[in-house]
Amino acid sequence: MANKKATNIEVKKNNRNNIYRYILRTDVTSNPEISYDLKISLPTATQNTRELIEKGLVRETGKLKSTGGKRAAALAAAADYKLSVGLDITRNHISLVMADLKGRLLKSDRIFLPFEHSAHFYQKVNSLLEKFIDAGKVERERILGIGISIPGIVNLERGELSYSHVLRVEKVPLSFFSSYFSFPCYFLNDANAGAYAEGSSQEYAGRFFYLSLSSTVGGGIYDGTGLVQGQEYRCGEVGHMTVVPDGAPCYCGKKGCLDVYCSAARLSEMAEGSLEGFFQCLKEGRPDFVNAWDTYTSYLAVALDNIRMVLDCDIVVGGYVGGCIGENIQDVCRKAAERNIFEKRAAFVKPCTFKFEAAALGAALSVAERFIETI
Ligand SMILES: [Zn+2]
Repeated sequence: MANKKATNIEVKKNNRNNIYRYILRTDVTSNPEISYDLKISLPTATQNTRELIEKGLVRETGKLKSTGGKRAAALAAAADYKLSVGLDITRNHISLVMADLKGRLLKSDRIFLPFEHSAHFYQKVNSLLEKFIDAGKVERERILGIGISIPGIVNLERGELSYSHVLRVEKVPLSFFSSYFSFPCYFLNDANAGAYAEGSSQEYAGRFFYLSLSSTVGGGIYDGTGLVQGQEYRCGEVGHMTVVPDGAPCYCGKKGCLDVYCSAARLSEMAEGSLEGFFQCLKEGRPDFVNAWDTYTSYLAVALDNIRMVLDCDIVVGGYVGGCIGENIQDVCRKAAERNIFEKRAAFVKPCTFKFEAAALGAALSVAERFIETI
């Protein structure tokens, strides 16, 4: 009897959660629509949406057009009921974003602030974050927390940043970072954060690999429901995969890593640090830019082929390069197809959906998801 009761409670909770997620995914819906699409009775849909309205999570926004019978109430998510903040820390910048429960980007800022592992730096980040929230004119109790994206190995089991070559720190307890902020903090590796954002867009069925081509190169595996982290939380760390044995030295201390050949800097340094500038010159057909792109994509194709061989899933080209690549992704697909023995077109190579601040947004979305799970 006790078991049956527990099961009933679980069914009720699942129903409510499914209904809430359904409403979040749609712009406007109604009880009959929810009942039909989720295959639940109309009274169950109606009772749940009433509860969600009472809690302030859903709003009635009028009446839908009649399809013959009584006009149904139009329902929409109160997506601004709670908000989350994403903070992406890189070697020279921090990025801040604010997102609502639908995952929409409400506000963002990128600030030049070279990283240093010091109290002064973290206090400065906190003060910029507080200003960012104040400028958004948002009541503090609506902020669920801060998702923090870091370029390093974030071991959630040990609760530490195991190491970050980019930031030159190791074995820093995550509680150390949290201690500087007045909101709950949640941590993600930067490429994993980008992968998380893509995963939440539901563009890809099942598993995919997210290749982050930013100041550093990294990656993450999303398995359809969440991130795959690995034994030591190093899944997808392809930036330090060897693409040229004994090749050019990498900042990690090894030689020939993918990061050396495919970081966004390889391209942007040719256009005074502007990646958009690089792609503009490429579009104009300037020979040195065409040659650099040819070299870049040749190494990138090696990585894409290797990843595809191991995982046999779509690979999303993300990070700064993924955000700016546009039609040039065709060159990448062509070269990846030339390398792969099974694929003629390399349709497995996809452009990213989130072109802008994907890591910060993914970190924010992971905070929102924790809240949505509790509904
Ligand atoms: Zn390396």
